[in-house]
Amino acid sequence: KQVPSIRLNNGTAMPQLGFGVWQVPDSGAESAVGTALEAGYRSIDTAAIYGNERGTGRAVAASGVPRGDLFVTTKLWNGPKQRWGRDQVLRAFDDSLDKLGLDHLDLYLIHWPRPMRDDFLAIWKTFEEIAASGRAKAVGVSNFRPADLERLRGESDLVPAVNQIELHPLFPQEELRALHASLGIVTEAWSPLGQGKELLTLPAVAAVAAKHGRSAAQVVLRWHLQLGNVVIPKSVTPARIRENLDVFGFELDAADLAELSALGSGAAARRIGPDPAVFD
Ligand code: NAD
Repeated sequence: KQVPSIRLNNGTAMPQLGFGVWQVPDSGAESAVGTALEAGYRSIDTAAIYGNERGTGRAVAASGVPRGDLFVTTKLWNGPKQRWGRDQVLRAFDDSLDKLGLDHLDLYLIHWPRPMRDDFLAIWKTFEEIAASGRAKAVGVSNFRPADLERLRGESDLVPAVNQIELHPLFPQEELRALHASLGIVTEAWSPLGQGKELLTLPAVAAVAAKHGRSAAQVVLRWHLQLGNVVIPKSVTPARIRENLDVFGFELDAADLAELSALGSGAAARRIGPDPAVFD
């Protein structure tokens, strides 16, 4: 079954399920991304800091998939080592395109808000310029908190197309998802499988999986899709890469969704990754 698309606020369509490549070494990216493209994935999520834009680009080039059928995302590493003025941002953008071997991106994201640096508004001004040039069809953010989104809104008419955030049943992000919906921002879940750790071993997840004759990973992905999230599960194992795409032939019911949502509701909510308030 085909992956459905989600309409972004710039009018373009983004596949609701894509392939994430964090922690895939550049030397392994060509094979992992190649397997994903062959399996039918059409959206790839990388980042400058992942160090695998070249390998990802090689897989895209070798795949023979027409560029217009692909959705490629990468992210500005607005790390603390330098001042992120206009020239540095444009240079980083060019460098990512060059490594990927592409002439445009489908989505370019600010990787972290780093609120203590107080520079994401200035970076966003350059993202506006990149979007206007058409060299990124859409621009967005990652790890932005409600306060960060409100600050952007106060200073810019360009609403991020996407906010890519840590989100899975142990950290369901109800407040941010509601804010995104009200602002026209698509919610994209990173670590949608909880990095394949505790989440996939929980009895509640196993029970829903057994009920549907599916794997734990598949029912967690279904939970995301039915909430309207974009997901980008990562794997380098061909059978899992295919399994994670094979999630369009069944549906969870309201009780299943509630059971999974309960795992991280209220005080039970817990992150796996860094807190954007302090991550620098
Ligand atoms: P994930 O939740 O996708 O989990 C991946 C891990 O789960 C794999 O390494 C494997 O151990 C396991 N797994 C995968 N498929 C499985 C299956 N079918 N059955 C059992 N186990 C399985 O974790 P992730 O890689 O952290 O997140 C996905 C993507 O999100 C990343 O690759 C990256 O593209 C993006 N991401 C973005 C940020 C950000 O700051 N914007 C942070 C983290 C991740």
